[in-house]
Amino acid sequence: MKAAVLYESPGQLQVEDIVIDDPQPNEIIIQIAASGLCHSDLHWLDRGYPMPKPIVLGHEAAGIVARVGSEVSKVQVGDHVIGYNLGSCGDCEWCRSDRKVLCTRVGVRRDPSDRPRLSKHDGTPIETSSLAAFAEQMLVHESQAVIIDKDIAFDIAAMVGCGVPTGFGAVTRRANVYPNATVAVIGCGGIGLNAIQAAVLAGASRVIAIDVNDGKLELARQFGATDVINSSTGDVLKRLGEILPGRGGVDFSFEAIGKKATYELAFEILRPGGLATVIGVYEGDIQLPAQLFWSGERAIQGSLMGSLDFQADLPRILELYQQGRLKLEELISNRIPLEQINEGYAEISKGSVARSVVMFDV
Ligand SMILES: [Zn+2]
Ligand SMILES: [Zn+2]
Repeated sequence: MKAAVLYESPGQLQVEDIVIDDPQPNEIIIQIAASGLCHSDLHWLDRGYPMPKPIVLGHEAAGIVARVGSEVSKVQVGDHVIGYNLGSCGDCEWCRSDRKVLCTRVGVRRDPSDRPRLSKHDGTPIETSSLAAFAEQMLVHESQAVIIDKDIAFDIAAMVGCGVPTGFGAVTRRANVYPNATVAVIGCGGIGLNAIQAAVLAGASRVIAIDVNDGKLELARQFGATDVINSSTGDVLKRLGEILPGRGGVDFSFEAIGKKATYELAFEILRPGGLATVIGVYEGDIQLPAQLFWSGERAIQGSLMGSLDFQADLPRILELYQQGRLKLEELISNRIPLEQINEGYAEISKGSVARSVVMFDV
């Protein structure tokens, strides 16, 4: 099958023909119809984060179940599914306590002693990033497939694999934003825009979008932001004070970029009692004023993939879309063939608002 393989980081993806293994008893092969270019893969594409190579990236995809292993019971050939970045065993303490994203019993990769899921024609193993969705097919654990309505378009469904639920769930599941709260969202890419529209649905009285790109801030307004701050042209705390005079900051903040400065900003813009939720992928250290924790009971927490019960929540997110209450089509600006994937990432890397989805014939 055709796949986009990364050999060096930073580097370009090489589209080539590779071999996909047969499914093991609890695995399935999904014929991919649409695969989104998520910003977080840039951490591996152009920032040189350490990882085994060669590797196939991509973790935001939807398609049709093509083959199932001998013990698969949750899906059938022909089902339309979203591939999810994480698996769940359904039985550990996390799965039973509604925190499926923390389940570690179901590996999203095969055991290193097993045959590789992907390999070159000469037998060289190719690593997989959870889904390895920049390819015509993906081989995953059955718990990573979420069945969806057959009338949902695959490009829409693909985005409900990562960008949409990650922003949406951080607001609705992890932070539990309540009606009339004030909310700030730092970073207005795919995840931030979905945090914004979730905050609107949750009844926030003010939703303040913060970004360095005026195009993204304009998009943020279309997704329901009541106010915008361009953080490159001014002092964010001062602007926030003008928007919310006398409040001392926001009740909830969300960081959707993945940088030291924005992690710290998410905490610093909280009013007493406020809660910051950090979503962006960042692996360094941060420094926060300790006094702000105890003197004002502020808190900061992480959210992984929207902290969702994904089997239950992804179909509900699609229902909101079908009712016209969530904007999803507006998130897609380009539909491209796999051969144009490097150009698609170059756009994202420039900070453009363009968001591409790779489309395959199925
Ligand atoms: Zn993603
Ligand atoms: Zn589990």
